[in-house]
Amino acid sequence: MVTMDKLVALSRNRGIIFAGSELYGGLANTWDYGPIGVELKNNIKHLWWVRFVQAQPLVVGLDSSILLNPQVWEASGHVGGFSDPLIDCRQCKNRFRADNMIEDFFAQKGDAREIAGLSDDELRGIIDEENIPCPGCGGHNFTPIRKFNLMFQTYQGVTDENATPIYLRPETAQGIFLNFRTISRAARLTPPFGVGQIGKSFRNEITPGNFIFRTREFEQMELEFFCPGEEADHWYDYWRKECMDFLLELGVKNESLRMRPHSQEELSHYSVATSDIEYLFPFGWGEVWGIANRTDYDLKAHMSFSGKDLTAMDPVTNEKYIPYVIEPSVGVERLLLMFLADAYDEEDLEDGSTRVVLRFHPLLAPVKIGVLPLSKKLTAQAEELFRKLAPLYNAELDDRGSIGKRYRRFDEIGTPYCVTVDFQTEEDGCVTVRDRDTMEQVRLPISELESFFAEKFRP
Ligand code: ATP
Repeated sequence: MVTMDKLVALSRNRGIIFAGSELYGGLANTWDYGPIGVELKNNIKHLWWVRFVQAQPLVVGLDSSILLNPQVWEASGHVGGFSDPLIDCRQCKNRFRADNMIEDFFAQKGDAREIAGLSDDELRGIIDEENIPCPGCGGHNFTPIRKFNLMFQTYQGVTDENATPIYLRPETAQGIFLNFRTISRAARLTPPFGVGQIGKSFRNEITPGNFIFRTREFEQMELEFFCPGEEADHWYDYWRKECMDFLLELGVKNESLRMRPHSQEELSHYSVATSDIEYLFPFGWGEVWGIANRTDYDLKAHMSFSGKDLTAMDPVTNEKYIPYVIEPSVGVERLLLMFLADAYDEEDLEDGSTRVVLRFHPLLAPVKIGVLPLSKKLTAQAEELFRKLAPLYNAELDDRGSIGKRYRRFDEIGTPYCVTVDFQTEEDGCVTVRDRDTMEQVRLPISELESFFAEKFRP
């Protein structure tokens, strides 16, 4: 059975994910993606980009900067409102998100009460009334709730006197809104059209955790789809389906996914409808993808703060209007954790041993083909084959250790196929191709490998 501990250990041992800054004792909640992890991450981003930008007739791409004019965050509401309710335990000095603490307490008791939308005073009241203990020490000595802004602040400028405070973006979406006008003109687009972007976001989360599920630095893949208000419901449903289909087509187990619409109380101030796609992680259901109808809130706010015209023209009536925005927003690392958890499998073999295998969809697999010489004497021939395959698929040449151990390692990083060069290869021009999932082996002429793999890795 998959557990978080197993995923963390496998990730570390196999070069998928390492704890950050380890050489200096670490930096809490930062993670580095190793040789296998970076391939997986790139595959996820590439597959998203193809599906949500390139393959969509009405969507174009953007790469906007992380640092934005500070006024953007006032217009967007992040300076005033992007904050979490923070509570400190006076006894053990631990700090928690008050809402999460109450939700966890209710969940343990099977209490289905909703707390979304409650004020800080109301949350504090519940903690006292229910006598909720500190998750750290079990005590009952809490501070009042304080608001904590999640944006990382830094300074731009050379000297202290003229340094301007600026923020690291907490979402990539705002960069898209700022470019609505320029993209619309340059790409000759009128709504409905969308803009997709992949990039880093930063949130000074109070309670990060669950491995890479919630971190302070992460990457988002966001699509802002602009449309007339009366088409918003249609596009909301369209994008919800696209997101779910994307996951199912990449092989995520249907029973581990659910679409959860937000209740009225839970909705953000700018949204009239939001649904989360949730996945059943080893620690329980967690949001991976949020799809929101953000109404005309964003463009309206930027229009009023900037004084610039962000309206669109109805091509039939020639009337000006402010477009609505449908936003599917997903974190790269959260998807990665989901794919990792979903792919993890342990198989009992006939010889009594257990095989760990990541059953990634072939298009997600970080290493597509392992190239293995049966003996070190055959390394030169294997390298020749590797050089043929490597420009087409991410392949890896491995001549270290017994063949069985090498197969196991490739199983553990989810490599769909291993090609073994043996002593007969030189005579008959054939190699053995082993399938990760079935462990079946077929002998194929090298000349047929290209068409064999083209079929297996067809998008
Ligand atoms: P949560 O409540 O889980 O913190 P959120 O509702 O604040 O998430 P959104 O603002 O809707 O998240 O962000 C969209 C997506 O970005 C999320 O569905 C998630 O995949 C990802 N994401 C958000 N915050 C983080 C984070 N701190 N670490 C990793 N991924 C994140």
